[in-house]
Parts: sequence; structure tokens; C-alpha cells
Amino acid sequence: MKTIISTSCSRFPCQPSKPSIFFKPSSLPNPGFLSLSRSMTSFKSSLSLASSVDNDQTGPIHRPSGEIHVIVGPMFSGKTTALLRRIKSEGNSGRNVAMIKSSKDTRYAIDSVVTHDGAKFPCWALSNLLSFKQKFGAEAYDKLDMIGIDEAQFFDDLYDFCCKAADCDGKTLIVAGLDGDYLRRSFGSVLDIIPLADSITKLTARCELCSKRAFFTLRKTDETKTELIGGADVYMPVCRQHYVNGQAAMEAARTVLESHSKVQTDSCLEEVAVV
Ligand SMILES: [Zn+2]
Repeated sequence: MKTIISTSCSRFPCQPSKPSIFFKPSSLPNPGFLSLSRSMTSFKSSLSLASSVDNDQTGPIHRPSGEIHVIVGPMFSGKTTALLRRIKSEGNSGRNVAMIKSSKDTRYAIDSVVTHDGAKFPCWALSNLLSFKQKFGAEAYDKLDMIGIDEAQFFDDLYDFCCKAADCDGKTLIVAGLDGDYLRRSFGSVLDIIPLADSITKLTARCELCSKRAFFTLRKTDETKTELIGGADVYMPVCRQHYVNGQAAMEAARTVLESHSKVQTDSCLEEVAVV
């Protein structure tokens, strides 16, 4: 029986170079009856081949399956600490690890991930994740076992990178980021990767006002843009009750400030009119 070996398969867009076997329909004695069982056989064959063979001139490569573990929570909940602990532990066990953070976050250091309590780890500060392989070097990237991503909410290409790195390249990803912004709206693409994840951990902080468990981040200033990078001077972790009270207080303060500024503007206009 003839077979046609195709070097591409649209069913597996991540693995364009993996060979898939299709049976030539005209070569089958009874296509109407056999096509289903034959196509199931070829589908299983292609699955088996796709999972174990790489169309590389150097021969078959057995690539382990990747994983995605997501750590979310409000600010000051220990996300970066948990991420660093995992990455350091794997690195100490002899696995090849790398850490990436957003180049937008320069609060503590440009080339290190630093926790609020001062622990640090060297990292790549990038504006997008898909540039990582090229910047890190393709050969070095291929040897990586695990990649940590901190402040993941700042990466627009988070979903695409996670698919590529875990599904196609066999990397284990530990992704830490804010699930919600200061208004408790979904922040960046962090929630988009939940369907891709092997595990999700939601950490909590301590409410700065009552010491109960804190699930939310309250912004203490009247700045309203979503991405405002800051520490304890701008944000505080709060429980639900203090989030609701705090938001109400902030909105009341904002209304007072706005009306105050309107009065000042009106008074300036009146002065201009008088002059
Ligand atoms: Zn509280």
C-alpha cells in the first residue's frame, strides 16, 4: 500500500516540521468502508509520530511535555517570592532555568527580579515575550527546562508565548502576575492563560487596615490609568470590606478634588472675564 509522507499538518500548527502519514485514498480497495478505520489508524500514527519524532536532520528527539503553572493574587501576596523559590529550587537541582520580567517594571532593578523583602534573581527584562528566544539564543533556549515570568500582566503576547513554549517547545512555565487591577478588572492577559494551565494558585496578602486576608489591591492615589507602577506608596492590599470602603472613600475624595478644581477654573475664568 502506498503512503504519502507530508512534512506539514494543519491539525498541529505548532509542529509544522513533524511528519504525518496519510493514506492515498485511490489505493484503498474499498474507500467507502475502509477510509474511516484507515484514517483513524493514520490519525493515531500521526499522533504517535508527532509526539516522539522531530523532523531534524540529527535524528529523533524525545521532547518532554511542557507545563504551565500560574500564580496570581493581589500586590504584596508573595507571588514573586513563590516564583523565585520554585525557580531557585529547580536551578539547584541541576535544571536549566531562566527568569523574565517586564521591562516596564524598574522599581528595584533592571536586570533582576526582586521581591518586596529584598530577595533577588537575575532576569531578562523584556517588552515582549516572543523576542525571548532570539535574545536568549536559540541554542541556549533549546536547553532550557523552566522559564519563570514575573509581572505577567504587562505582556500582551503572554497567551501566544505560553502556547509556543509549553505546547511546542516542552518548557515548564511558572507565570506570576496580578489577576485583577485596582478596580478588580481582569488585568492584561493573565486570566486568558487559565485554560492553558496545569495549575493555578491564588495567593492572599494581609489587609493593611485590619490584618484579615487580603484579596484585592487598593490604589491610594487619585491616578486613574490602569498601568501605574508603584509600591507601598501607591498600593495596599485590602480585604473585601476595606476595598469597598476604600473605593468609596477614594471616589468621594476624587469628587471633592474635581469640584474643587472646577471652582478654581471657574474663578480663573471669571477673573479673565473681569480683566
Ligand atoms: Zn480589612
